[in-house]
Amino acid sequence: MTKAVDWSTQSIIDRRDTYYAASQRAFVPYQKPLILKKGMMQYCWDEKGNKLIDLLGMNLCISVGHAHPKVVEAVTEQVQQLTHCTTMFHHPVPAHLAEELAATMPKGHEWVVHFTNSGAEAVDLSIMMARASTGNHDILALRNSYHGATYGAQAVTGVQGFRHNVSQLSNVSFVAEPNQYRGIFGEGTDPYLEEIDRSIAYTTSGELAAMFIESVQGYGGIIQMPPGYLKGAAEKVRAAGGLLIMDEVQSGFGKTGDAMWCFDHHDIVPDVMVIAKGLGNGIPIGAVVVKKEIAESMAGKLLFHTYGANPVACAAARAVLQVIEEDDLINNAKTVGAKLHEGLKQLKDRYDIIGDVRGRGFMQAIELVKDRDTKEPAPDHTAHVFEHTREHGLILSKSGTFKNVLRMVPPLCLQMEDVEPVIDALDRSFSDLEKENLV
Ligand code: PMP
Repeated sequence: MTKAVDWSTQSIIDRRDTYYAASQRAFVPYQKPLILKKGMMQYCWDEKGNKLIDLLGMNLCISVGHAHPKVVEAVTEQVQQLTHCTTMFHHPVPAHLAEELAATMPKGHEWVVHFTNSGAEAVDLSIMMARASTGNHDILALRNSYHGATYGAQAVTGVQGFRHNVSQLSNVSFVAEPNQYRGIFGEGTDPYLEEIDRSIAYTTSGELAAMFIESVQGYGGIIQMPPGYLKGAAEKVRAAGGLLIMDEVQSGFGKTGDAMWCFDHHDIVPDVMVIAKGLGNGIPIGAVVVKKEIAESMAGKLLFHTYGANPVACAAARAVLQVIEEDDLINNAKTVGAKLHEGLKQLKDRYDIIGDVRGRGFMQAIELVKDRDTKEPAPDHTAHVFEHTREHGLILSKSGTFKNVLRMVPPLCLQMEDVEPVIDALDRSFSDLEKENLV
């Protein structure tokens, strides 16, 4: 008999409050905690049996769908056969996955993979790879970025709420993000590229190890990189001796509906790519995919992750790649995402509080403002709408520097027939604001 589980609401809250460390229990988005019991494809059920459309994909970890039968089958088979094979021994499953991931990368380069257990661990590793392989120390990252919570990843994370008041890793400078809605230089690409020049000139030694960029800033509120920005940034960073490190932890696996990796449609080849979350469809795994010559420069020292290349996680990831292709999920993200975007735009026509609707594929956002001209953020209204979206059957997230962005990043299996209920639930949540005389 497996151990009993106590599902009563109060006991779960009490146990968490008593036994979780403060910083782990701090992130509770809703006024009343949401307790989840079951998930199937794009849907979740709470402990009372209420069905919700998961527009957050459990923070993008669920890529192809909760309990996707092919992933479940692959994981079950592997867990029964051999649950772990530590990386000092050989196993074919991670080796297959490495080959399959390398095959998704731009042609003309040799790519290798270093498996980790999470995104932040992969970011840490890529910081070290960049410094070790270039011999340089200075790193650029974007303001408004999120790259993870570990000591290394936090140092390249710009979002204040995730930066603890401790001495951070040194030699990191932050560059203004090219936010086309409220960026400090307004619209356009060139002013933001010129800011990279100024940042290199005034905040670094002139010699770079790397620049970190999320292809689409996720926690930052779905900020897309404007045309030409990544190409221009790559040129400037490489001219200063650094590597371009693309963080595809959120935007990868076809999420933007364009290609497997979002950087693909920006006509660039990164030096390093960091992935995690959706790779395992909920089973913890991360990876650094890197040009071979960069990784080779570190061959002299061991970099051992006991759980890295775990065969169960790698079996899940292989099934994810298979399902994305077999079920044509990148195309699904494109077409269903376009329909979702259209519905969100129509909401903007009806509700003045919506200042911006943006996104591609299954990375969509609504930004709420008190005034469309001043763009003054409306975090309180956002919190209010957010609470109502749950009552109306949606899970999404509140994001952005000002917590005034509703972010929607559903699993790749969201269907056309889900769009109407989603828009209807959002519509009702915004009209609740009017009914309660809050606008
Ligand atoms: N990069 C990005 C863009 C992320 O969104 C996250 C996690 N939200 C990370 C890195 C870190 O991943 P993890 O939480 O698995 O450490």
